[in-house]
Amino acid sequence: MPAIVRLSTQEIDAMIANIEAGGGDAEELKKHRAEVANHKWLAKHEKPLGEEDYLAEKRAQSKIEYGTDLECMICHDKFDHLISGTCEDCFRKWVLTIKRR
Ligand SMILES: [Zn+2]
Repeated sequence: MPAIVRLSTQEIDAMIANIEAGGGDAEELKKHRAEVANHKWLAKHEKPLGEEDYLAEKRAQSKIEYGTDLECMICHDKFDHLISGTCEDCFRKWVLTIKRR
């Protein structure tokens, strides 16, 4: 892992203001600030919320079977309910694999 100095956007803003107040060029820092803000946004909104939302949506659209001796078509274990023919674990992996394509 490369060493990354983790600054908050507020700290970067203060540094930009300082550099510009001193007549310096803060362009690189401004780019860095945009990246930090972007990463923060992604961390908050993309994962894992995006995946959970997607799973919930797919689950709601899937046929759920209940029984006593149902076999998951992926791992072939027995379950008391199946989502689109798969168990919870396999359904989850399967849906997330589709999503990442
Ligand atoms: Zn399974």
